[in-house]
Amino acid sequence: MVNTEYLCIFFVFWIGASVGSFINVAAMRTVAEKKWWGAERSACDKCGRVLSFVDLIPVISYLALGRKCRTCDAHIDRRHFLAEIATGLIAAVLVWRLGPSYLLFFSLAMLPFFLFNTLTDLENGYIYDSWCIATVVVALVLRLAGGIPAIIDGTLGMALGFGVILMIITVSRGGMGFGDAMLMLGIGAFFGWKMTILVLYLGFLSGGAVIIPLLLMKKVSRKDAVPMGPFLVMGALLTIFFGAACLSYFGYALPWPWNLMR
Ligand SMILES: [Zn+2]
Repeated sequence: MVNTEYLCIFFVFWIGASVGSFINVAAMRTVAEKKWWGAERSACDKCGRVLSFVDLIPVISYLALGRKCRTCDAHIDRRHFLAEIATGLIAAVLVWRLGPSYLLFFSLAMLPFFLFNTLTDLENGYIYDSWCIATVVVALVLRLAGGIPAIIDGTLGMALGFGVILMIITVSRGGMGFGDAMLMLGIGAFFGWKMTILVLYLGFLSGGAVIIPLLLMKKVSRKDAVPMGPFLVMGALLTIFFGAACLSYFGYALPWPWNLMR
């Protein structure tokens, strides 16, 4: 039995790495304002050679090819490898932590959207509305399985997430952007209102844990635009992993689909 479980986790790691690979390229092309669906094939950034199957195996190609292009010796951008490994690992940990459940299915479906928004925010500080709207649509469709209360909870989560960030934007005049509010619209639709509070809390906490030391060491100044999106996504992942335990600890009833867990 244990062997099948490990096999399953390995398989999910692999699918996750492949999805991560695809989303990473989609994010890079979106930022570069290129089309990423259909015609255009992946090519070496330096010599332009169209990549073949051996160049495109997630994680393995990067390691096996010695991190270099086969024709021109240009270094392959490390972000491909990092995005693949990270997505694969997160997917594997989700399976290990959540087990076969609707929450697992729901979380895995959200992962590509979280990843895309993180990558574009890191690269050019921009979170794309279209991807946030898509997150909302996918989340609400998946919430149909929980009936009307689940849809209402998702809508409340959207309002809460969007509203809190909008309030921060108004009060702080900068620091956070409208993209962060749009991101929380999608995250709220997935999490529902109770879990969204946790996402915001853990998001700001992890943001502070990184940014405050950087401020103290004067690596960044208060005027620098630090992308908040990745921290909100970090809060979202932490909430998937620990949200249920947190709410139970404080004696709150678990919202759907967390209440379906064993
Ligand atoms: Zn090349």
